[in-house]
This record gives sequence, C-alpha cells and structure tokens, in this order.
Amino acid sequence: MRTVPHYISGKTVEGQSGRFGDIYNPSTGEVQAQVQLATQDELSEAVAVAVAAQQGWSATNPQRRARVMFKFKELLEANMDELAAILSSEHGKVIADSKGDIQRGLEVIEFACGIPHLLKGEYTEGAGPGIDVFSVRQPLGVVAGITPFNFPAMIPMWMFGVAIACGNAFILKPSEKDPTVPLRLAELMTEAGLPNGVLNVVHGDKTAVDAILTHPDIKAVSFVGSSDIAHYVYSNGTANGKRVQAMGGAKNHGIIMPDADMDQVIADFSGAAYGSAGERCMALPVAVPVGKDTADEFVSRMKEEVGKLKIGISTDAEAHYGPVVSSAHREKIENYIKMGVDEGADLVVDGRGHSLQGHENGFFIGPTLFDNVTPDMQSYQEEIFGPVLQVVRAENLEEAASLPSRHQYGNGVAIFTRNGLAAREFASKVNVGMVGINVPIPVPVAYHTFGGWKRSAFGDVNQHGPEGVRFYTKVKTMTQRWPSGDVDDQSFIIPTMQ
Ligand code: NAD
Repeated sequence: MRTVPHYISGKTVEGQSGRFGDIYNPSTGEVQAQVQLATQDELSEAVAVAVAAQQGWSATNPQRRARVMFKFKELLEANMDELAAILSSEHGKVIADSKGDIQRGLEVIEFACGIPHLLKGEYTEGAGPGIDVFSVRQPLGVVAGITPFNFPAMIPMWMFGVAIACGNAFILKPSEKDPTVPLRLAELMTEAGLPNGVLNVVHGDKTAVDAILTHPDIKAVSFVGSSDIAHYVYSNGTANGKRVQAMGGAKNHGIIMPDADMDQVIADFSGAAYGSAGERCMALPVAVPVGKDTADEFVSRMKEEVGKLKIGISTDAEAHYGPVVSSAHREKIENYIKMGVDEGADLVVDGRGHSLQGHENGFFIGPTLFDNVTPDMQSYQEEIFGPVLQVVRAENLEEAASLPSRHQYGNGVAIFTRNGLAAREFASKVNVGMVGINVPIPVPVAYHTFGGWKRSAFGDVNQHGPEGVRFYTKVKTMTQRWPSGDVDDQSFIIPTMQ
C-alpha cells in the first residue's frame, strides 16, 4: 500500500516511527494509503534543517523571494487537475470544489508575490536634530502551521505562502486525513526554486503537534481546526513563549429579512449549507427567517430545493456534494440529527442512512433540514459540520441579530435584505468576525484578512492579508545620527524632542 512520506530538505523522507494513519477514499470507504506519523525526534530533525535554511533565505532579497512565489503560482495552475483529483479522492469534496480550494490558496500566493512592497518599513527624516528614525519588519525564523482536513490546499497556503515570502522557514503539519496535496505543494515549491529546507512537511498526530508546541526553535504557530484543539494549541504554544494564532470551529447564521430576494436566498442557502457536505468553517448551517411568513416560505421552498440535490462520488461532475470525510464523522453528524429530534426540533428532511447505489460503503449523508430549532438546544449550540441546515425562527431583526451575537462561535454571519440601513446597523453591531451582506460565504479576499471572534479564533492576529505579514514578522526600529563634529552636552535625562 502507498505510504505518504515526510518532506524534509527538499526531498521525501520515510518515517521511522512505525506508526501510520489510514487515508480513506470517502467515496468508496476503502483505505487507499497510509501516512507516516512523526516522532518528536523526527520533528526536531526537520526544525534543525529549517533553522539552517532560514538564514540564507531571509538574506535573499524580497524580489527574488517573490519570483519563487510567481513561479509557484504558475505551477499550481499547470498542476491544477492533478492536485484537484488527489484532493477529492482523500477529502471527498467534488472536483470543482477542490479546484476552488486550490484557487483560494493560489490567491494568497498572488498576494505574497507583492512581498517587496508589503515589507517596506517606515521612515521619519529629521525626527530630531540630525536624527532619523526607521522601522523594518524582519522574519521570525522558523515557524509552523498545523492544518485541518477540510481545506488541505487553501489553508496550508494561507500560512506558508505569507510566512515564506516574509523570509521565514516553515514546518507544515497537515491533517493526517488528507496529507498528499500538502506534500505535493511542498514539492512544487521546490520546483519553483525554493531552497531546500525552507518548507518542510512533517506528518503526524498529537505527538507531532506537541513537539511543535514545545520546540524552542519554533517561534510562531499558526493553527486551524476545531475549537478545543485550537484552545489547547493557543494555551500551550503561548505558555512556551510562541506567537500563536489558532482558528477554531464555527456555527454561522444567515438572517433572512422579509424584504430579501427569496430566489437568491434559496440558491445561496443550498450552496452554503450543503456544499462540501457542510464541511466548511464558513458554511451557513443556521437560517434565521424574520417573521412567520418569511419562515414558512423559506422552509417550504428549501424543502423543495433539498429534494433536487444530487449526492455523488467526488468525481461525479453532476453531484452537488460528495461524501463526508470519515465514517466516524458521519456517525457524529447522524448523532446530532438524532439529538435535534430528541430535543423537539421538527425534522423536515432526514438525510440519515443515505446509501449511494454502487458505493454503499462510502461515507454519504443526505441533506437534512430542521425547522423550529431553538437556542436552548444543544444541537444548535454546537458545531455539526455536516449537511444539516437548522431553521431558528425570529420575530424581528433585534431577536435575529442577538442569536449570532450570543452564540459561542463568531466566525461568519450573513444578512439577506434590500434595506441598506438595516444591513449597515446589523454589520456594525453583530458580535462576529466576518459579515456578509447578501453574500452567503463572506470569506475575505486574500489581500484582506481572515479571522473569526469568540471561540472561532484564539489570538489577536488574523490569517493572510496585511495581518498575515504582521503575524510572521517582528518590527525593529532604528534611531540614527551620524557624527557632525558638534559634541552635545552630557545629559542624564531621558532624551525628548522638545
Ligand atoms: P481537528 O481539530 O480535528 O484537527 C486539526 C489539526 O489538529 C490536525 O492537523 C490534527 O492532526 C490536529 N489534532 C487533532 N487532534 C489533536 C490533539 N488531540 N492534539 C493536538 N493536535 C490535534 O479539526 P479537523 O476535523 O481537521 O477540521 C475541522 C474543524 O476545523 C472544524 O471545527 C472547522 O470549523 C475548523 N475550521 C476552522 C477554520 C477557521 O478558519 N476558523 C477553517 C477551517 C476549518
């Protein structure tokens, strides 16, 4: 059986731990390969390689670093079909969606191509007599990224694209569920001209993560995954003196005002709630129609729409979405559906027990729709991360807006309305990090920045955009004066600019 090796110093390296993780094909339910799971020592070997490589890389001028990024972008485009096929076979999302995953990462690489401009510092001439002050951004050294299964191309590129352009060396610890695309990305970076050792991929589980969190030469850790693990990574990483950004889970609400364009709303919710089988942190799994008429129309039209969805294997070009990532995850989602029923929500469409003819062992689950969900229900309070849409009815905008504001997660939220003033007020006041106005999945473009609030993100600095550059660099400020021949009097007071 194929095994997925580590990637250290520009070449694949077989692991020595004797421990492996299974990689499934979710469409068939079969184990298609195994991934090496690193030991603490293997992680340390990769860090030593990265420390050595980082010195030369940070001394390479930013324009040359940008050229590697330009070349990498071209290689991503040239290899898009191959990457998407691998991604779909390990994740289960349909091919077109895998291409979207790669494309969103590629857009961060395009942003990173502008690194010479992004790293320009600040300069004040004549801050005092003959004194100039300037500040520069310098790389941190070796930094690490720990990524989830649901975007195995985009999220690694959010991190290493910016970090490497800034002059750091990078250790990537991808999800063990779909690790082949991250490995291919590292190979393509080498092909693009990145010096060996600047980007290393170490596969693994908790052992590798703990080794990252405690290694003294890793200066910063970027994490994306579920909230409990994000909190663990944030607490332990910062306790060990590292800079940490740790993005967590989500439960995004879409508020539907009575004046919304209902045709568009139905189209948006079917894609945003069920696309990628709901396995997106910016999915829209909660609909909040305002007023009884809006709610009745939404539920009846959504029920009809759900009936038209086609679930298929990841290579089925007609399918709207594919299987979920594992049988354990399917079981978890089905348990949440049972919980919703037990808690008294109305199950309008039940996706449990969905079987695809010819692929009976695949991890499929049908689209599920609940009406009359209430905020006290546990199935509402927690992240389901599956093709399940929950309708929570609200009397007015105030009540509707309080739901996402009070929820433990605060990743994304959307409002659907034709009333600009209501939308503006809502966007300004809602206690959530990313807001869509008639936009169901408000994932910011690469040159803005991505990050939620509350239990959706721990740490203060977001992913990509100018915030990404800030995360992966530290500021140094110089105050300079050149001898002019005049000698100042001795002074024992703090210098001021009187
Ligand atoms: P996960 O938390 O299970 O895994 C994420 C990473 O943590 C993986 O690399 C995994 O190997 C590692 N990990 C798992 N268990 C660990 C442990 N006990 N100790 C240390 N490390 C551990 O998440 P997932 O299932 O791969 O991804 C789905 C989750 O990610 C969802 O909650 C989703 O909302 C979230 N997510 C969030 C964002 C965001 O930006 N906020 C984006 C994508 C996904």
